[in-house]
Amino acid sequence: MRIPFVAGNWKMHGSKAMIQDHLGQFTQQASALNNVKIAVCPPSLYISDVQSKLAGSLIAVGVQNVCEQAGYGAFTGEVSVDMLADFSIPYAIVGHSERRAIYGETDAQVADKVAALLASNITPILCVGETLDEREADQTEQVVAIQLNAVIKKVGAAAFANIVIAYEPVWAIGTGKTATPDQAQAVHAFIRNLLAQHDQKIAESVIIQYGGSVKPDNAATLFAQPDIDGGLIGGASLDPIDFLAICKAAA
Ligand code: PEP
Repeated sequence: MRIPFVAGNWKMHGSKAMIQDHLGQFTQQASALNNVKIAVCPPSLYISDVQSKLAGSLIAVGVQNVCEQAGYGAFTGEVSVDMLADFSIPYAIVGHSERRAIYGETDAQVADKVAALLASNITPILCVGETLDEREADQTEQVVAIQLNAVIKKVGAAAFANIVIAYEPVWAIGTGKTATPDQAQAVHAFIRNLLAQHDQKIAESVIIQYGGSVKPDNAATLFAQPDIDGGLIGGASLDPIDFLAICKAAA
């Protein structure tokens, strides 16, 4: 029995005022929801503010990226897994398509980040997904398999007991174009089957979120698909009413 998981990716949005307003409205009602796990992932600078605001609730705080180098050192601008552990951060998004496309993160680097997080008992939310060109060239499964296999090669399939996967078709992120429930389900089933070739039990238990223009009006049909276990939500997570509606749709 998989408990759906909804995480909000604020990207480079937020402010102290927004945290007070947004989370003030959201937290009480979201805490009353059963059968759904919820996390918010603000920019790292705001982690402490968000943690204070969510103190005493079951809503978790995650980050949007982490350095693949553990410990401390000369890596200007980076945040390590040890620092996340210092703040008791339970989740970190890795391999988001914006990190891959804008900052050139490779599959190998993403796999290294996953390994570093697991070594610190922090759950990676591992993003995979194809571009529009790749989908139109019928390469969706091939691309997703390459992204996943890089991580499996690094940490092993059994490690997926402690990894959340987010299938995020790049063409659906921030575009208002959502994958149809059938399109999304097909890739989610493919991902689960790929893992099942290594470990049936892990494949059945792994949480696979869908991400890409999830809104209150499409969340329920997406989350009703048998292999979709909640979502990674960008734009709509910045609106407390919309994010709450999406969390309710997963519960
Ligand atoms: C995301 O950034 O992970 C995302 C899914 O964005 P959006 O919901 O805005 O498409």
